Amino acid sequence: MNITYETNLYCLIGNPIEKSLSPIIHNSIFEIFDRNCVYLSFNINGEDLENTINAFRAMKVKGFNVTIPHKKNIIKYLDDITTEAKIMGAVNTVKNENGKFVGYNTDGEGFIQTFSNNNIDLKDKNILLLGSGGAAFSIGVTLAMQDINSIYIGNRNIESCILLKEKINSINNKIITNVDNLQLENIDKKSIDIIINSTPIGMYPMEDMSPIELNGYSKETIVYDIVYKPLETKLLYESKLKGFKVFSGISMLLNQAILSQKIWFDLKEINFKIIEKLAGNLSSYVE
Ligand code: NAP
Repeated sequence: MNITYETNLYCLIGNPIEKSLSPIIHNSIFEIFDRNCVYLSFNINGEDLENTINAFRAMKVKGFNVTIPHKKNIIKYLDDITTEAKIMGAVNTVKNENGKFVGYNTDGEGFIQTFSNNNIDLKDKNILLLGSGGAAFSIGVTLAMQDINSIYIGNRNIESCILLKEKINSINNKIITNVDNLQLENIDKKSIDIIINSTPIGMYPMEDMSPIELNGYSKETIVYDIVYKPLETKLLYESKLKGFKVFSGISMLLNQAILSQKIWFDLKEINFKIIEKLAGNLSSYVE
């Protein structure tokens, strides 16, 4: 690329960010769309967050992404946030709108987008959500805005399951919600349409582990593991052996990035077909 005075800077701030794929993804999208932009990542400590945002304001940075551990703390330094980001209590995308920094959250939408990209209707679906951490929260809140039937949340720590259940029902009290530990002792497996893993089980150093065993689920079950390194986790490998339809976390990761760019560049339509091209660019980084 040709960097000039007119090149616009987009960034990621987080800590640690060394292994983040965002620079590769965003710079690839810039290249595909021939944008005069560059995306860089910065490792920022909590005590430097305010100074960083002030520096971004002074530099008139057009947009940036925010990742762990700053997704919540960033909010107090922004001028406004969207209703969705407010409900999630977290921001992952910031846009400079005429000098004002506005916070968005594309995590949940990035997840949901996989279903629309694959023509899968979420209406009346019964969902098993494993994990109730930050990613599960974004997914749960976004699912609560869909026309699904039920969410069964399984997690090691029941307290955070209960918080997520309460959040989901505060958004949509028609959704049937249940909480359990990861043994899932009370679940009706045959009723489950979609299993989502939002725990890091399956990711390094737990590559040899799967969060649940898959006997007893219907042949039509869809399994979505949001872990993307490795691309095929043990859960996805075993799901494929059972004949289940599977999605890897790379899909959510790419969708989120594309949705951030939709916000930054006011795109009306986005062609998610570019995902195949992006996934090709990424494959050597995730194996
Ligand atoms: P988080 O906020 O730390 O939450 C982790 C969740 O997993 C918690 O519910 C935690 O349970 C559970 N957990 C952690 N270690 C466990 C273990 N050894 N056994 C059982 N449960 C365990 O993390 P997060 O931000 O939600 O991220 C979770 C995973 O999703 C990570 O692997 C991350 O890389 C991936 N992710 C992917 C994308 C994507 O775009 N594809 C986006 C975000 C996150 P407790 O409450 O009991 O601690």
